[in-house]
Amino acid sequence: MLQTHLKTADDSLKLLYLWPAQSPDMQEAARQLSYYGYQANLFDSIAWLIQACAESAPTGILIDCAQVCDEISGHKDEIRALAERIPIACMSDQTHIEARLAALRIGCKAYFTRPLDTSSLLDTLDRLTAPPQAEAGKVLIIEDSAALAAFYAAHLNEAGFVCQVVTDPLKSLEAIHEHPPELILLDMNMPGASGEEIAKVIRQQDAYLSIPIVFLSAESDVGRQREAMSLGGDEFLHKPIEPEHLISAVRSRVIRYRALRALMVRDSLTGLLNHTSYKERLRAEVSRAKRQNKRLSVAIIDIDHFKNVNDTYGHPAGDRVIKNLSRLLKQRLRGADVIGRYGGEEFALALPDTPIEIAVNVINGLRVSFAAIEQHAGNAIFHNTFSAGVTQLPGLMEAEALIKAADVALYASKHSGRNQVTAAAEA
Ligand code: GH3
Ligand code: MG
Ligand code: MG
Ligand code: MG
Repeated sequence: MLQTHLKTADDSLKLLYLWPAQSPDMQEAARQLSYYGYQANLFDSIAWLIQACAESAPTGILIDCAQVCDEISGHKDEIRALAERIPIACMSDQTHIEARLAALRIGCKAYFTRPLDTSSLLDTLDRLTAPPQAEAGKVLIIEDSAALAAFYAAHLNEAGFVCQVVTDPLKSLEAIHEHPPELILLDMNMPGASGEEIAKVIRQQDAYLSIPIVFLSAESDVGRQREAMSLGGDEFLHKPIEPEHLISAVRSRVIRYRALRALMVRDSLTGLLNHTSYKERLRAEVSRAKRQNKRLSVAIIDIDHFKNVNDTYGHPAGDRVIKNLSRLLKQRLRGADVIGRYGGEEFALALPDTPIEIAVNVINGLRVSFAAIEQHAGNAIFHNTFSAGVTQLPGLMEAEALIKAADVALYASKHSGRNQVTAAAEA
């Protein structure tokens, strides 16, 4: 990767260990994994593998069982000990249950048969190495009684939530801006502004339309409660509140809010930003680049002759190709780069602080890797290519104009034979 488009420590290369090095399948797997930005190290013997794991633990281990049956039988305990620390997947020719059980009993977490589908191996590793618990839910408590607010916060903290407390309702918006919460607990009776008024002000802003609001009140006035609910309140909790009741009401709403947000912002097949969210992020990147007087490259990528993939191998195989390209983009681009699924088999990128020459080089690197990736459909293996158009700011100064220019450049790539990257004339 180019000097000026280096990954930061945060998005460093992932390490995988493969054994044995003599296996042609492991050699091919190492090659395929490298296209996705993994570093796959091959080992000749179990002793070297164990030593390497002690020195630097990989994300996962892949063993070609057929090639090393005897060594596995002779080192069951060592392999089991490794499997307790590091996920091990094995590859085999055997499909019968005895072989699967044997693998399970030495601690293998996943079992693949030949030909190895690299993308399903990577899906499995993602699943096995996912962080054990989700981030703590963020709750904003707006309550004029500092003592009560502290009481709620203490119980919610205990249950794993992070709470921000505001005792002056007029400070509510500042607090929401600075630390966007995933749920607001809102007192109804406060000096300065009522809970209903604060809810109205919050809901007047599009960005805060979906944050759950739970009203807190000793109020027994049914009319006022009904009004509070009609303002987009999600629930009404009566004071005094049982901590258990508070926690369960908060937990279920934070979970639902997260699921809703994920649906609104992310594409379900690839987990990338969807069309609308990509455009929102692009607009933000454009203003930032202008303000900081920095360059910003924008690219549109479209898979070549994708209709043929669906027609020949079926729609699910097409979906896997889309997933594989999205995985390649996620693995190889920097954390600061914006990646969206722009349409069916179209992707859009925004690379902050990146001049177009660098962007063209980076995308050409991705293009070469993508063309080399084996796509699997049943026992068939095939390859795909993509075409891309790239443009940059300055040159064009608005998000819409950048996308349009990248699209025109993409069509130039298509017309001159596909599997290529074109820089826009405007840039
Ligand atoms: P070109 O090289 O000109 O881009 O040719 P193409 O066949 O890729 O272009 P075209 O726009 O004619 O076809 C795109 C196809 O992508 C048509 C559509 O059925 C398919 N497609 C769009 N979204 C999805 C999806 O989510 N999954 C699958 N499997 N196919 C999709
Ligand atoms: Mg009060
Ligand atoms: Mg298309
Ligand atoms: Mg296409």
